[in-house]
Amino acid sequence: MIRQISSFICCTAAVVAAVPALLAAQEAAPLPLKHTPEPTSAAISAKDLMTRLYIFADDSMMGRETGTRGHLMSTAYIANELTRLGLKPAGDNGTFFQNVPMIRRAFSEKSTITVGETTLRGGTDFVASAPTGALPSLGTVDVVFGGRPGDSTAALAPDQIRGKLLMQYPAPRGAGRGGFGGRGGRGGGGPAIMATIEDITPQALRLAEHPREGQVTLKTPTPGSQPGFVTLTLTPSAAQTLLGADPAAAAKGQAGKSAMLHLVFDEEPAPARNVVAIIPGSDAKLKNEYVALGAHNDHVGVLTTAPQDHDSLHVFRQAQFAINGLVRRGQQASVEQQGQLSALHVNFDSLRKAHPVRLDSIRNGADDDGSGSVTLLEIAEAFAKAPQKPKRSLLFVWHTGEEKGLLGSRWVTDHLPVPTDSIVAQLNMDMVGRGTARDIPGGGDTYLQLVGSRRLSTELGDIVEQVNKTESKPFAFDYQFDANGDPENIYCRSDHYNYARLGIPVVFFTTGLHGDYHQVTDEPQYIDYPHMARVGQLVHDVAVTVGNLDHRPLVDKPKPDPNGRCQQ
Ligand SMILES: [Zn+2]
Repeated sequence: MIRQISSFICCTAAVVAAVPALLAAQEAAPLPLKHTPEPTSAAISAKDLMTRLYIFADDSMMGRETGTRGHLMSTAYIANELTRLGLKPAGDNGTFFQNVPMIRRAFSEKSTITVGETTLRGGTDFVASAPTGALPSLGTVDVVFGGRPGDSTAALAPDQIRGKLLMQYPAPRGAGRGGFGGRGGRGGGGPAIMATIEDITPQALRLAEHPREGQVTLKTPTPGSQPGFVTLTLTPSAAQTLLGADPAAAAKGQAGKSAMLHLVFDEEPAPARNVVAIIPGSDAKLKNEYVALGAHNDHVGVLTTAPQDHDSLHVFRQAQFAINGLVRRGQQASVEQQGQLSALHVNFDSLRKAHPVRLDSIRNGADDDGSGSVTLLEIAEAFAKAPQKPKRSLLFVWHTGEEKGLLGSRWVTDHLPVPTDSIVAQLNMDMVGRGTARDIPGGGDTYLQLVGSRRLSTELGDIVEQVNKTESKPFAFDYQFDANGDPENIYCRSDHYNYARLGIPVVFFTTGLHGDYHQVTDEPQYIDYPHMARVGQLVHDVAVTVGNLDHRPLVDKPKPDPNGRCQQ
């Protein structure tokens, strides 16, 4: 699942903590760090899923980031399995791979910002992060001060920020997205550039590798896409130059200087590929229609900051998430929650008795979306080995670049190997391996979130409910993240949306966010395999029902604008 952007500086490593009692709440028998693969069978089983996920989310895959060798390795694993299982390739030139033209765009220290006689230097006074899509042209912009935590939350007036460089102190964790002044992007009438003032020395800024690592994005922007916006990180001294005053004493909305921006980004090709396969249907006529099933093959790679203490981080994040529940975007933790959070203390001694310190830099993405990817493989295996196929064909897509902005699903839906209107539904799995009581408030054996299942087709939503009733242990669906306007914005945060935008009814299956989301601690040892196998069985059985239906699921809701912004 893609991160909801509120600030591009992610996650101060407040690695500490744990009420000793939480240690007791850990798994009675934790799963091993490594697992020896065993042959898989037709059934969608916890055993097979373990074998697959310990391979797919192994450290050797290096976090499967789009544009890296780990991405090539993990997509090769999927394609090898599909070859072995005998699926029909539906990628480029008779292969399972659909290459997506992407580039890595990295900040160059040749960049400068000129304010009057003063020149601010890239890598010393500021760093810039490139947007996805096309680079906006910038030139000279006016600076305006956006505020600091504790200021009035009232947004600045549109004409105070439009087309400007909006400079502000970072929003506190858990604050609403967009900070104080609203989102950027010239297309939206917002600021041209968002800049964050970090309490950081030039030396530390030099080490902030994130923008230098580069951003992987489509080589050419998708039709109808809004131009992205550049974000800057400024030292306090650079901020003072741009504002012409001490930002620590500035008033919200205070006008600054005019700045001439000369931002340079280096670009290189970044390997990115969807894995696409078909299982033909059994009915002479209906086989020309498809039930699409998807997951995303990529994750967010390795840390570019210092390694973290895995076990402390896991215990702390889990405790934090449990207390916070889901402090929803735009909401503050309650006073009681804040008290509990600040009372979190580490008992390192207990931790160290259990494990020596294990430093970790690899964000394995076992749940995100290793879980969906290997469950999709299990579903493919079940169908490939079944003597009787559904009447309709099945289109399997393991999407690339989901974490870069749903780019692989955008590409495949703009370049489908089958006619768009031949796809009767899309079933997406992203993060389907957790959802226990330890992972999410209200979690448990029958926990599963459904998102989007009735947004285009009431009938499709009803089908999922009916099929669920026939399962060995039916799920109790949690629909709260499907609510219109829900601040977590989950409906817009995974690949199904790129199908829905074309009017294809979708169902998004997920066991939800948890403390290890996008951390080095999202590892196979924390996955609930029996739970995940039952999610896979449900998705399989929904595909059978939709695949054999004597009509396509009726679309009875308005279709979105295919090039518009997703609306939760
Ligand atoms: Zn993700």
